[in-house]
Amino acid sequence: MKIITLLLLFMSPFYTFALKSEDHLSSTEEGYFVFDSEKKLLPLLHQQDLNIDHINEKGFEIYGPHGLGTFLHDLGANFEDLTPHTKRWQSLIAEYPTPKEVQERVESLVKMNPDILELEIIGKSHQGQDLYVVKVSDNVSFDEAEPEFKYIANMHGDEIVGRELMVLFLEDLVKRYREKDPKVLTAINHTEIFIMPTMNPDGSGNHRRGNGHHRDLNRNFPDFTTRDNVNTPQGREPETQAVMNWQATRNFSLSANFHGGSKVVNYPWDTTAEQAPLTGLIKELSSHYAATVPGMFDNQYFPGGIVNGYSWYHIDGGMQDWSYYFHNDLQVTVELSNSKWPSYDRIPQYYEDNSQALLDYLLKVHQGAGFFLADKNESGLVTLISDNEDKYGPYDFKNGEFHKILPIGNYTINVETKSGDQKTFKRVVTDSLPQ
Ligand SMILES: [Zn+2]
Repeated sequence: MKIITLLLLFMSPFYTFALKSEDHLSSTEEGYFVFDSEKKLLPLLHQQDLNIDHINEKGFEIYGPHGLGTFLHDLGANFEDLTPHTKRWQSLIAEYPTPKEVQERVESLVKMNPDILELEIIGKSHQGQDLYVVKVSDNVSFDEAEPEFKYIANMHGDEIVGRELMVLFLEDLVKRYREKDPKVLTAINHTEIFIMPTMNPDGSGNHRRGNGHHRDLNRNFPDFTTRDNVNTPQGREPETQAVMNWQATRNFSLSANFHGGSKVVNYPWDTTAEQAPLTGLIKELSSHYAATVPGMFDNQYFPGGIVNGYSWYHIDGGMQDWSYYFHNDLQVTVELSNSKWPSYDRIPQYYEDNSQALLDYLLKVHQGAGFFLADKNESGLVTLISDNEDKYGPYDFKNGEFHKILPIGNYTINVETKSGDQKTFKRVVTDSLPQ
């Protein structure tokens, strides 16, 4: 009986009103947690392309334009507001530094360690705040012939743990480099590491998911399964544009982005049920992150602490799928904490729980193969063939370099440059670290 009422409501004029609101898929003007343990409402809302997130055993989050709350109310849904309106919530948030304070802390670290850290402003947020990244490498001011790796945190402004962990990770990398910790020396001496603590300073400053324009940045990227399938920054949010323009100048081959609201590594694809290329390897890398994080590898809801994005919930316009599909930069989405704003004094514990995973996952960028050409302006096509005849590519390469994360094995790499040269390289991919 209740379902019939729901169906009738879905056909009501009000429902049409909700759907006709501009950009309902990426709007975050209102956000709620809907209690729906029996998953009765979920299929109906899912079908209507509303912005759903973090499905769990109790229910799910939903975001949308003004009127979403009234809409849910009229549906008879049991839900609670996700905006931090209670005093307790406000006081938790007040313990955290502001985006400006975070940036100052990072800037002073960079200033004190100019031999291995460099700060780059890659754009401005909707409200005019700096979007900055830190490069960590020896010979930091040179573009060396090394694999490139990146971490991006806090694209959802209210998922704050990642931002704090990135700052602590940067400080820890510096400290352990000075102490000559062998693993950190390997990471910094043989990798170009890029860390973006906050992709959405407007959202974190305003304690909300969307950017200064109430848009969900993780629904704002080109998507190979939708009509928005051209890899161009035009018409997107400034934060999305900044990341896209930056990515186009680099050659990242492995990355992760950090969220909050669960404890699991979510791997591609998010946008289709089809398997992503090298899914076996992607699952191994995801497990490699989850394996050392308490509450993740032993998560009751997600066996082993990993989940395929699409099988959890379908999203279009996400960053990880864009990164892997358009740039061959294998990216996973790490959900760090069940609570989006845990008490600030718990942050050191979160860091301790994740510190090994952060470094071990990063070092996996060395399980790959590629080449660096003398001419940094060279571009073209690459095909890789493994000894057991698995073929990968053709892939585009640019900036005279190419590196791809691969299963362990022997590979033949065939290169065709735009200027007409053909080259062949033999490469061995192992899981041992560079010396
Ligand atoms: Zn998120």
